[in-house]
Amino acid sequence: MQRDLFDEEHLLFRETVREFMAREVVPHHGQWEKDGIVPREVWKKAGELGMFGFGVPEEYGGAGITDFRYNAVIVEEITRSGASGLGFSLHNDVMAPYVVELTDEEQKQRWLPGFASGEIITAIAMTEPGAGSDLQGVRTTAVREGDHYVVNGQKTFITNGINADLVVVVAKTDPDAGARGTTLIVVERGMEGFNRGRNLDKVGMKAQDTAELFFENVRVPAANRLGPNEGEGFYQLMNNLPQERLSIAVAAVAAAEAVLEQTIEYCRTRQAFGRNLGSFQNTRFVLAELATETEIARHYVDKCILALNARQLTVVDAAKAKWWTTELQNKVIDRCLQLHGGYGYMMEYPVAKAWLDGRVQTIYGGTTEIMKEIIGRSFDF
Ligand SMILES: Cc1cc2nc3c(=O)[nH]c(=O)nc-3n(C[C@H](O)[C@H](O)[C@H](O)COP(=O)(O)OP(=O)(O)OC[C@H]3O[C@@H](n4cnc5c(N)ncnc54)[C@H](O)[C@@H]3O)c2cc1C
Repeated sequence: MQRDLFDEEHLLFRETVREFMAREVVPHHGQWEKDGIVPREVWKKAGELGMFGFGVPEEYGGAGITDFRYNAVIVEEITRSGASGLGFSLHNDVMAPYVVELTDEEQKQRWLPGFASGEIITAIAMTEPGAGSDLQGVRTTAVREGDHYVVNGQKTFITNGINADLVVVVAKTDPDAGARGTTLIVVERGMEGFNRGRNLDKVGMKAQDTAELFFENVRVPAANRLGPNEGEGFYQLMNNLPQERLSIAVAAVAAAEAVLEQTIEYCRTRQAFGRNLGSFQNTRFVLAELATETEIARHYVDKCILALNARQLTVVDAAKAKWWTTELQNKVIDRCLQLHGGYGYMMEYPVAKAWLDGRVQTIYGGTTEIMKEIIGRSFDF
C-alpha cells in the first residue's frame, strides 16, 4: 500500500540524510563500536546539515518547524543504515520538547543555539539502580539552598551519558509528596560533584555511550530548573513520553523493514537442495506473514505521527504503538535470522547486528509490560 505520509520536502531531506549517513557515519561506525562511543564531531557535522532541533525557533538557530515527519526521516535513515550508536533520536525526539517547550527566555538563549548546532549534546536521567519502571521510586534529591539546588543521587543506563553536556535529571524536591514532589533539574558538564561512571558494556548498540552518572552535592543554579514551579516534573515527563515512545516505534518498523528487505534478497540467492530458499513454501509463508504485519504496523505508526503533529497523540495510542511494533521488530528479526541459517549468526551479516541492537527496544522508553499496564488502565475497570 502506498505510503502517503511525506511531502516533497521530506523526501528531499531524506536524500540529504541518507547521503550524510553514507559519507560521515557508515564508513566509521565499526570503529566507533570498538571505541564504545561516537565522536562529538559527527554531531557538529549533522548540526551543520540542519539535522537537530527542527522545532527550535529560528531566532535561536533552529528551523522553527514543528513537524515530527522530519524526525521520523532521521530515525528511519539511521535505523536503515544500522548506525545504532548515534544518540540523535534521544536528542531530537526525546529532549527537544524539554529544552524548547519547558525553558524560559534566559535558558533558551543559553541552550538552544548549541542544541540545534550539535555543539550541546543532551541526555535525560530518569532511571536509577533502584527505580526503572517505577519512576516514582526515584531517590535522587534536589534540595533548595538559596539560589541553588544541591543534587545528590545516582542514575544508570543513560543514553549519551558520556557525551552529554546537559543532563535533565529527574529529582525529588519533596520526597514526601509522591509524584508531586518531582522536579526536572538541568545539570551541566563541568559542575563540581557531577561525575560519570562506567560506559556500560551492552549486548548491542556498541557505539552508543550508555552510562552511569553520579551526583554528589552538585550545586546547580535554581535558574536550571525546568518549568516555572517545583514539583511539576512527573507531569512534564508524562507529557513528553508519548513522543519518545513514538520515536522508538518509528525505529522498530524501519528496522523490521530493513531486515525483511535484506532477507528477501538473501532468500533469492542462497541455495539449498539445489533450489533457492525462496522456492520453499515455508520461506514464502514466513516472509508473507512478516511483510503483512510490518506493513500494518507502518500505517498505524504513520497515523500516530500525524496525530502527534496535531497534538492529539494520546498516552494510550503511543503505548500501543511502542509495545506492538517493538515486539514485532524482535519477531521479524528473529525469524529472518532463522532464514539465514548459520550465516544469520555471523556478525558479517546485518541481520545478526540488527538482532543484538534491536533487543532493547521492548525495554527502554517503558517496557512492553508497562505499556500494557497503561493501556489496561484506560479501560477504567
Ligand atoms: C540501552 C538502554 C538505554 C537506556 N536509556 C535511558 C535513558 O537515556 N534515560 C533513562 O532514564 N533510562 C534509560 N534506560 C533505562 C530504561 O528506561 C529502563 O531500563 C526501563 O524503563 C526498565 O527499567 P528497569 O531496567 O529498572 O527494569 P525493572 O523496572 O526492574 O523491570 C524488570 C522487569 O519487571 C517488569 N515489571 C516492572 N514493573 C512491572 C509491573 N508493574 N507490572 C508488570 N511487570 C513489571 C518489567 O516490564 C521488566 O520486564 C535505558 C536502558 C537501556 C537498556
